[in-house]
Amino acid sequence: MSYHVNEKGYYGDFGGAYIPEMLYPNVEELRRNYLQIINDESFKKEFELLLKDYVGRPSPLYHARRLSERYGATIYLKREDLNHTGAHKINNAIGQIMVAERLGKKRIIAETGAGQHGVATATVCALRGLECVVYMGEIDIKRQAPNVARMKMMGATVVPATSGSKTLKDATNEAMRDWINNPVDTHYIIGSAVGPHPYPDMVARFQSIISEETRWQLKEKTGKETADYVLACVGGGSNAIGMFYHFLDDEDVKLIAVEAAGLGVDSGESAATTVLGKEGVLHGSRSILMQTPDGQVVEPYSISAGLDYPGIGPQHAHLFKSKRASYVSATDDEAMQAGLLLTRLEGIIPAIESSHALAHLEKMSFKGGETVVVCLSGRGDKDLDTYIRYFGL
Ligand SMILES: *Cc1c(COP(=O)(O)O)cnc(C)c1O
Repeated sequence: MSYHVNEKGYYGDFGGAYIPEMLYPNVEELRRNYLQIINDESFKKEFELLLKDYVGRPSPLYHARRLSERYGATIYLKREDLNHTGAHKINNAIGQIMVAERLGKKRIIAETGAGQHGVATATVCALRGLECVVYMGEIDIKRQAPNVARMKMMGATVVPATSGSKTLKDATNEAMRDWINNPVDTHYIIGSAVGPHPYPDMVARFQSIISEETRWQLKEKTGKETADYVLACVGGGSNAIGMFYHFLDDEDVKLIAVEAAGLGVDSGESAATTVLGKEGVLHGSRSILMQTPDGQVVEPYSISAGLDYPGIGPQHAHLFKSKRASYVSATDDEAMQAGLLLTRLEGIIPAIESSHALAHLEKMSFKGGETVVVCLSGRGDKDLDTYIRYFGL
C-alpha cells in the first residue's frame, strides 16, 4: 500500500483540493511547480545549509536515561525543541519561503492561532526580507500577547480577524480572502500538514527531515536504523508526519499519533478528531473532522493551543483508516503530568503539545529492550504560565 500522495493529490479517500474557484490559479501554480522546485539541487543545498546554520540541525536524538528506567524501554527524544524559535514549525516555514522566492513572490501571508506558526513565518520573512502579514483572531491576539510582540519585533503586520468567533477559523478565512485578492505577488504559508493539495505533501516533505535524521542517529546509537515504536502528538499533523515519514514503509515500526482529548473524549471539550470526527471537507481537503450531524465544524478544545484543531491532515486520515498508524489520545491532565515528569526526570520542559505524546508512554507496556522514539516537537517556555498555574507552583 502507498502512504504517499498520488498524481491526483489524494491519499486513499482523502486529500484533493476543495477550494473556491478564485483560488484555483494560486494553488494550481504551486501544484505545477513545487516538486520541480524542491527537488532542484540548488534548492536542496540552500535548504540544508539554512537548516544547519540557522535552525541548528541536526536536532539531537537524546537517550533519556531516567525516563527509560521509569518505563522499562530505551526511550529517545527527538529534540525539535532545540530548534531556533523553539519548535519544528521553522523547518516548514524555511522550506515554503524558499519556494515562494523561486515563484517570484514578494509578499507572505499566514494565519495563526496560538501564534507559533505566525512567529515562525515572521522569522523567515525577516530572514529573507519579504513583507509579512499574519492574520490572527482578535481573541487570540489578546490571549497570546508575547507571540504578537515577537511577530511585530520581526517586522510583521498582525491583522486582527474580527468576524465570527474571532479565532483561528476566522483568521484562516481572512488569509484566504487576502490570497484571492493578491494572486500574483503573494504566497500563503500554511503551518501544518493540512490544506488543499499540494500543501500537505509539501509540508510533509519539509518536515521529513525529522525522521531522515532519526534513522541515521538511531543507527549510530543502536546499530539499527529503525525503532520499535515512534510517537508524536497531532494537531494538524506536521510534526507527526515528519517523524513518521521515513518509517512509513517499514511496517514493523509501530507508529503512534497522540491527539488531545482535552477534558476527556466524551466531555464535549476535546480535540480527539479520530474518535469524534467523521469524513468531510475542511480547509481545502477531504479528511476527518469534528462536525455536527449537519456538517457544521465543532469547536475543539485542548489545554494546548497547538493541538486545538478540529481536523487532521489528509495523510493522517489515510494512515488512520488504513491502520498503518494508531491514533490515541491524552487528556489535559495526563499531558500536564507527563510534562512535569519529563521536567523532573530529565531537566527538559516540553511544550504542552509534546507532553501529549509523552503521556502515552504511561499507557504502553514494555517487555524490556524495546526502542522508542518520541518527537519532542517544541519547548515549554511559551507554556510556563499554564504549567505554573496548573500545578500551583
Ligand atoms: C503547532 C505545534 C504542534 C501541532 O502542530 P502539528 O502540525 O500537529 O505538528 C505541536 N507541537 C508544537 C510545539 C507546536 O508548536
